[in-house]
Amino acid sequence: MQDRLGAGGDFAAAYVVAHEIAHHIQNELGILGQANQARRQASPAESNAISVRIELQADCYSGIWARAVQQKFGTLERGDLEEALNAAKQIGDDTLQRNAGQRVQPHTFTHGTSEQRQRWFATGYQTGDMRACDTFSARQL
Ligand SMILES: [Zn+2]
Repeated sequence: MQDRLGAGGDFAAAYVVAHEIAHHIQNELGILGQANQARRQASPAESNAISVRIELQADCYSGIWARAVQQKFGTLERGDLEEALNAAKQIGDDTLQRNAGQRVQPHTFTHGTSEQRQRWFATGYQTGDMRACDTFSARQL
């Protein structure tokens, strides 16, 4: 992550693991099943847009996890949050496309922009509330 994405740090890695576990939680809650069902009946662009909502919710859940880590164990170190936020920024679709020398094409996004990924992680961290992570009802992502 450090070399290929410029997203180093132990907490950057922790954020990515938390994001993947968040998908497991979405699956357990039936969110993933519903969303993937909707994706199958959608146009490619709509399917991508649903994917973005899934991914931003996983980022938000990761933020909730980071908050819980701090509240329960107090183990967040100086710079940890910044590492997670920087990772979220480096793996935003717009940033990835730009860094690959491609034109930024929002209809192809599947994970959200750098700004969105950082903001949804921060929303989870600040609220600690899964209801605040309802990206499917959010008017603005
Ligand atoms: Zn994901």
